[in-house]
Amino acid sequence: MIEVKDLSKSYGSVRVLHDVNLTVGTGEVVVIIGASGSGKSTLIRCINGLERFGAGSIDVDGFSLAPSEGKSRRNMAELKDIRREVGMVFQQFNLFPHKTVLENVTLAPIQVRKWDKAKAEATARRLLERVGLQDHTHKYPGQLSGGQQQRVAIARSLAMEPRVMLFDEPTSALDPEMVSEVLEVMRGLAREGMTMIVVTHEMGFAREVADRVVYIDHGRVLEVAPPAELFDNPQQERTKTFLSRVL
Ligand code: ATP
Ligand code: MG
Repeated sequence: MIEVKDLSKSYGSVRVLHDVNLTVGTGEVVVIIGASGSGKSTLIRCINGLERFGAGSIDVDGFSLAPSEGKSRRNMAELKDIRREVGMVFQQFNLFPHKTVLENVTLAPIQVRKWDKAKAEATARRLLERVGLQDHTHKYPGQLSGGQQQRVAIARSLAMEPRVMLFDEPTSALDPEMVSEVLEVMRGLAREGMTMIVVTHEMGFAREVADRVVYIDHGRVLEVAPPAELFDNPQQERTKTFLSRVL
């Protein structure tokens, strides 16, 4: 489903990703862990075309992104294809503050997918029910808790019917008591077979839900293994050191 090959990326003269290879199969859940600044966000932002990269290739379900660092223009057609396939949820929920919950979820399907309002609203209501927010459809984001806002953000992504969902520390900005309600929604998605890449510090979630865990260190994939192996029997010294700090 996702194939990242020999991906390298620099900001100016600083190389932040080095020859990253990563394959994610259909229905697989891959969790990415690593220290702050190791390149986790950069990697997943490359996968949905938010960042250009200098070398390598990214393929999502047959749609490819090519290197475009240094070029003045990007191939907009390929970018549009990938964006349609890939949903993304960020640490900061990035909801539209002056639109209601329902409007937040229907906006892209109406504007991008050209769905009529009735169809978009029916889909949105179904998704909002699934994330437990059916009673909040006419509220504004500012009237919701952080956990509720993040669940709206997930519903909004799902409304575009992505084939892959990327999560970048979706619970890091939440008060501790709100974390589990968001993880529960993500668990549900995994159970239903959604292909997911999740950057998180929630090691319990990783252990329970991930098919494989990827440890990134200074822009390099250092170790990839099923969670039980990676957490209980890491092969690399650096992985051990990192885990001893976070577990
Ligand atoms: P965190 O856990 O703190 O979110 P991360 O693993 O997601 O960290 P990235 O945000 O991918 O790390 O950053 C990787 C490296 O790239 C860091 O050294 C960072 O300083 C650098 N970097 C990220 N974004 C930019 C940018 N827009 N311009 C220049 N350097 C950047
Ligand atoms: Mg990050």
